[in-house]
Amino acid sequence: MSDTAATAASELDALRPELDAWLDAHHDELVADHVGLGSLDQQMAQLSKVKRLLFDAGWMRRGWPERVGGLGGSPLLRAYLGEALQARDLVEPGIYSMTEVLAPTMIDYAAPELAATMVPRLLRGDETWCQGFSEPGTGSNLGALACRATRDGDGWRVSGQKVWTSLAQYSQRCVLLTRTGTAESAHRGITAMFVDMDSPGITVRPIGTMHGAEEFCEVFFDDVVVPLDRTLGDEGMGWSVAMDLLPYERSTALWHRAAYLHRRLQQLLDVADDASLDPAQLGEVTQLLYAFRARSRGTQHRLAAGEHLGPETSIDKVLLATTEQAVFDVAADALAADVAMADDAESERWRSQYLYSRAASIYGGSAEIQRNIIARRLLDLGSDR
Ligand SMILES: Cc1cc2nc3c(=O)[nH]c(=O)nc-3n(C[C@H](O)[C@H](O)[C@H](O)COP(=O)(O)OP(=O)(O)OC[C@H]3O[C@@H](n4cnc5c(N)ncnc54)[C@H](O)[C@@H]3O)c2cc1C
Repeated sequence: MSDTAATAASELDALRPELDAWLDAHHDELVADHVGLGSLDQQMAQLSKVKRLLFDAGWMRRGWPERVGGLGGSPLLRAYLGEALQARDLVEPGIYSMTEVLAPTMIDYAAPELAATMVPRLLRGDETWCQGFSEPGTGSNLGALACRATRDGDGWRVSGQKVWTSLAQYSQRCVLLTRTGTAESAHRGITAMFVDMDSPGITVRPIGTMHGAEEFCEVFFDDVVVPLDRTLGDEGMGWSVAMDLLPYERSTALWHRAAYLHRRLQQLLDVADDASLDPAQLGEVTQLLYAFRARSRGTQHRLAAGEHLGPETSIDKVLLATTEQAVFDVAADALAADVAMADDAESERWRSQYLYSRAASIYGGSAEIQRNIIARRLLDLGSDR
């Protein structure tokens, strides 16, 4: 074991009992006011409350660099914090994970003063940020994005549209990808920037989903001025920003999601009649869940060892999508009438999460695209041209 890995392991061993004891002692303050899943407004309010309490007590600062308001230490501490919150049903995993996706990108690419000012606001739950990558027609084919930014004095002027932007209606800031090169410049002509969502010219229109929440939005930019010092990396480096962000979306965030799936499968076993559970299906889903967690554990340890994560995290994403859908397939079969029809809060929660699980093979890069990456970049199976 390397020195870094040994230090990370001992930090984690020390943190676990301390954090568990604190979470148990503060349960009444941390627990949600609402019953069941709650509305998205309620989930967002709960998330802000929990992050504020955790930040003020120091837990939300563990595993983040001191230069952005953290207390230092291994990223494994963040992995365990999210796991412990999932084990107690304190926050919804998807909205909690946005911090794991966007804060590391700001730390890597924003000017140091900007990151030092902004990241603590996200960690403390004072702000929500969104990720403005996808556009109509350019989700998988991100290199073709068209939202245009042109230089104007000390800033950029941005015009165009984004879509599927999660939580944009709650967000104070957006990590935005724009086209600054020619239309033909593909991935070479993309620039990333950090945009204030209250800038004049931004319109946000929430979109309803089949699971019953307006989780994502269309976002329109009409001649929006963005100061030059909000550029993330250099002009034309947006592709690197995006490629470095995606592995974060598939590392600590997925460990948290694995903890959530483990919790939900356990809760299903607690409430379902034995007769309604198919042993073969249960065996398969258990094996999938443990394979996904084992894979994700390896990824957390590579991240903690300072390794640069890359296309191999596509394997984690494929495993997540397969596992999440399998877990909720078992729930939908075992609790069929409740998931389909019942109005009580628990049935609504199973129904909503079953429907949301269908999106697991789309968000963060579709399953087909991940398999293409695995085939071409990891297995060297060539291109499809
Ligand atoms: C719940 C949810 C939240 C999201 N949040 C955000 C967000 O916050 N920010 C953001 O920017 N985006 C977000 N997205 C968008 C997401 O990243 C895109 O939906 C995803 O990348 C797919 O892009 P698309 O929807 O344009 O589909 P398309 O790219 O049009 O793909 C349609 C279908 O064709 C398949 N396909 C496309 N190209 C190929 C190919 N070359 N080979 C094989 N199959 C192919 C795809 O796998 C898919 O099945 C979110 C999506 C969901 C579902």
